Amino acid sequence: MRIEFPDFRLGNVLATSFTGTLSERHGDAVERIPTPHRLVDWLALNGLAVDSCTPAQLELARELRESIHAAATAAALQDALPASAVQVINDCSAQGRAAAILTPEGERLWRLSSASCVEDALSVIAADAISIIAGERDGKLALCASPTCRAAFFDTSQSRTRKWCDMNTCGNRQKKARFNANRRKNSRSAE
Ligand SMILES: [Zn+2]
Repeated sequence: MRIEFPDFRLGNVLATSFTGTLSERHGDAVERIPTPHRLVDWLALNGLAVDSCTPAQLELARELRESIHAAATAAALQDALPASAVQVINDCSAQGRAAAILTPEGERLWRLSSASCVEDALSVIAADAISIIAGERDGKLALCASPTCRAAFFDTSQSRTRKWCDMNTCGNRQKKARFNANRRKNSRSAE
């Protein structure tokens, strides 16, 4: 029997797509990389293909993920960055050897030092997190308005007023809740 795993929620920003592999952190948390193989799948979808992953590498990936989440949350709230999270991000960034490669078509690819090097892939994610937390890129870190989510996301909307980490999940749920509340109100006033 094939076991079904939770889907990935893919976004445009590598670091926050990665932190999104654990969702509903303040509700019924959904772990989207429950096994080493699912991390391999996620990395392949994000241009960081590796051919294997050990349980220890998955553990390291999750440690990086939660460190990025903690640091990005602090940055969104304009709090001091937690030192332990910064340490993990910096260690991961320093440990990998990934090279940015420009293709003849003008696209950027990542070349990892070896196909089994999850650490190389994590260094790319760590560097991406550093660039958004450091405010180098056009956009603003914000926290999802859903109380069970509170994911840190990178708002690149022109007005910088995006409220949800993902329109299709948190945004939609909120809209539906509002719609149902309105309908209840309207049906009451029609009685
Ligand atoms: Zn959310």
